[in-house]
Amino acid sequence: MKRDTRLIHSGRPKGADGYVNAPVGRASTVLAPSTDELYGPTPPRRHYGRGGVSPNGELRRALCELYEADHCALASSGLAAVVLAIRTAIDGPGEVLITDSVYGPVRRFCDEELPRLGVTPRYYDPRIGAGIKQLTSDQTRMILLESPGSLTFEVQDIAAIAEAAQAVGAKTVIDDTWSAGVLMNPLDHGIDYAAQALTKYVGGHSDFLAGAVTARSEAAEALRSRESLYGQHVSPDDAFLALRGFRTLSLRLERSGANSVILAERLAELPAVAHVLHPAHEKFPDNALYKKYFSGPAGCFSIVLDGVSPRDGETMAERLTLFGMGFSWGGFESLVLPCDRQIRRTAVPWKEDGALLRFAIGLEDVDDLWADLEQAFA
Ligand SMILES: *Cc1c(COP(=O)(O)O)cnc(C)c1O
Repeated sequence: MKRDTRLIHSGRPKGADGYVNAPVGRASTVLAPSTDELYGPTPPRRHYGRGGVSPNGELRRALCELYEADHCALASSGLAAVVLAIRTAIDGPGEVLITDSVYGPVRRFCDEELPRLGVTPRYYDPRIGAGIKQLTSDQTRMILLESPGSLTFEVQDIAAIAEAAQAVGAKTVIDDTWSAGVLMNPLDHGIDYAAQALTKYVGGHSDFLAGAVTARSEAAEALRSRESLYGQHVSPDDAFLALRGFRTLSLRLERSGANSVILAERLAELPAVAHVLHPAHEKFPDNALYKKYFSGPAGCFSIVLDGVSPRDGETMAERLTLFGMGFSWGGFESLVLPCDRQIRRTAVPWKEDGALLRFAIGLEDVDDLWADLEQAFA
């Protein structure tokens, strides 16, 4: 089956009741008829809710089929999913290499928590590509990627980095939230663990948080055994919402991606805009890598205003009326986020001379969004 057909048919119940959608099962306790079954191997039934009751199993199956993965772990948020992937990938003290474009809260986890485990985080230029070989050694435990970076959109040469990791026996983890597993499958490029915030595109409606990690073969086994140690849980109601979003995921990505490319191109023409940071934009430095790895654009990108101070950039964002101002993205509604206050770089200093604004483009009519941008620029 092609991807869009799988998105509709995977993770559906096959029960005799004929339900199209797996019902929400609210249970902490699931009774067993015998002690053998209670203490026996868990599938096909789970006897405690933390392992997930319906429709969590269906959501896991759907994500496994999307990534062609052998196991999918669910977590209470996207951040929890990335952290679970990192903890699974690191098997002892040493060094980890982290992309400098990494999502801020993950950077904080790496800086504050990993040293306590005897693991030193070292940041690298997201555009390093095969040059990462110079940074790897037998001390390297893991390389963390995020492609594109979620504020600045550098696209990474995933296959080259995965190869360099394998050469020294290190694992790779990618934050794959932008592609949602639909526009790219990192597991096909040699990545061990693909994490994403279901909060964003899979959810699609800005009304819950959850995350997922998928993996194949040995990495899948490690993930299966590690996930139950951390008490991660997604409520069945949120799993239901994630599956509902999953059904229209491809269609929504197509619309918001197309809208974002049109707006990126129009914004690039404005004298006030110094750079458009959109992987699918022809003039973006990583456009060739984007074409190599992604089947299409997602709807999230940034612009750098030409010589405009961060404060004036924030004022412009406040003038927008159709774009709400807020964190997150992947919902049906458009958002703007002035980013200068959260840029943290140590490997490659951020040198742009102008405010950084991120746009999450929703499903509105693109001309209405453009009219709103024009009035705010005015
Ligand atoms: C939002 C986001 C996360 C975290 O997801 P939450 O569900 O908010 O914890 C992680 N990575 C990226 C790239 C994100 O955009």
